[in-house]
Amino acid sequence: MKRPNQRLRILGIQSTLKTPVARRALRIVLGQIRAKSPRDFFRLQDLVLSVRPRKWNDGTQGEFVKAKLRADDMGTLDRDSPRPGTVFVTEDKGEPEMIGLLAHELGHACTTREDLDRRCAPDGEWASELSADWYAYKWGFGRFISRARRTRQWSHHGPTPGMWIEDVCPDPKNPSRVMMARYKVSRRFRVVEVGKPRRLTRSELAR
Ligand SMILES: [Zn+2]
Repeated sequence: MKRPNQRLRILGIQSTLKTPVARRALRIVLGQIRAKSPRDFFRLQDLVLSVRPRKWNDGTQGEFVKAKLRADDMGTLDRDSPRPGTVFVTEDKGEPEMIGLLAHELGHACTTREDLDRRCAPDGEWASELSADWYAYKWGFGRFISRARRTRQWSHHGPTPGMWIEDVCPDPKNPSRVMMARYKVSRRFRVVEVGKPRRLTRSELAR
């Protein structure tokens, strides 16, 4: 008899993933993290309450949702510091894409305040996405991430190493005016500002 929502543990982590492909991918990812970074693996045992399937209509493929702060934790915990939570992933993928996706979401789970600061990103979401990918690369999933990137919307998932980005920043001389700054993402997933900000072009101002 088929039991819906069957729970099982995969390398110590609770999962309700349904497809054999997704379950196998999780086993591969956790096994490799354990081999490459036992410390991160043990942290994940505490940080990941469960890995669950989910479907989105807006192209989202995965999400790490931190458990709500308890009232007595408010004020003592940094919102960005690691906290247990649940990984949600879509299951409609082949094994390599599933591996990249799970590695990235587990990277979100591991991300600390220091990891975010280290990215030097002008935007909190970029810092978060770059930190998740930094972990995935550290655990040896770089080729799976770069493969998944071809199908990811980068505006949603942030910049990637080697990428040039332009973004508006306040004019240091006149904070009510904006200028355009140029950044490059380093191999260590840090955002480095290159050169001085420039004035916006007419068409950029018109937007
Ligand atoms: Zn992400």
